[in-house]
Amino acid sequence: MAEHLVEHTLAGIRLVGYSLAGEESVVAAPELNVCFDVGKAPSEILSVDHVLLSHGHMDHAAGLAYYLSQRNFVGNAPGCVLAPAALEQPIRNLLRVWCELEGHMTPAVVVPMRPGDEHAVRKGLVVRAFAVNHGVPALGYAVIDVRHKLRPEFIDKSGPELVALKKQGVEIQYALEVPLIAYCGDTAEGAYLELDMVRRAKVLILECTFFDPEHVKRARAGYHLHARDVARILPRMENERVLLTHVTRRTSVREAKATLTKMLSPADAERIQFLMDGKRRRAAPPPAFIKDAADRE
Ligand SMILES: [Zn+2]
Ligand SMILES: [Zn+2]
Repeated sequence: MAEHLVEHTLAGIRLVGYSLAGEESVVAAPELNVCFDVGKAPSEILSVDHVLLSHGHMDHAAGLAYYLSQRNFVGNAPGCVLAPAALEQPIRNLLRVWCELEGHMTPAVVVPMRPGDEHAVRKGLVVRAFAVNHGVPALGYAVIDVRHKLRPEFIDKSGPELVALKKQGVEIQYALEVPLIAYCGDTAEGAYLELDMVRRAKVLILECTFFDPEHVKRARAGYHLHARDVARILPRMENERVLLTHVTRRTSVREAKATLTKMLSPADAERIQFLMDGKRRRAAPPPAFIKDAADRE
């Protein structure tokens, strides 16, 4: 069971996850029905309908087939996996190999994504992909609340007048976009940091893998962020909160926090939160369907 997951509520958004570089990375926003990467598919995320896969590295993608298969067991709708377009075929191949192993095909919805592509999560909530910089096909994802507002020039019109204008084909509304979360996956610095949907997201989820001054080269070689990079990036970001993920096993969360905090202004230090610096969720009892799964395999 996934008693290792940690939970935070940042800017009013509940986030549940686990992230250590090279081991496992998964962050779900259950109320928004999205999960950023899938890690080893902890049971808490199985009811989330959309997995937004940033790239194919094992620590982020290992549980993909398991996530889809477990959903199938409980009779949930097929899981919907958004992934960099270059990974669509490899994911289908993976599912085909599992079909050979298991003797039946697990249903899945695989949506190839390119920078700028959008996918509707529900009415008024979209995911938009953006390019990140990780040396392999990789995307970040912004979850955007889209509200339709009356254009200011029509604010004094009466209801019937508005209906009449609409009938004439006049656009009386405009879309107001509020980016709720920007998830950057594994990435070095890049142009994505200048995008409004990233800079202004209420919550920015950013990796911060390395902390040791001697590991700057290591960060560059692996297209990862070093604490120094994060300290340089943060002052120009307008996010209410910044959730830091993907810390190397070499550095404890306590050390990581102390090292980074020293490099930040008090205001920026106040905004950051390390994902793994939180309360562990209590082990949930195994859901009933796990027993069913045991009966079937
Ligand atoms: Zn990783
Ligand atoms: Zn990676």
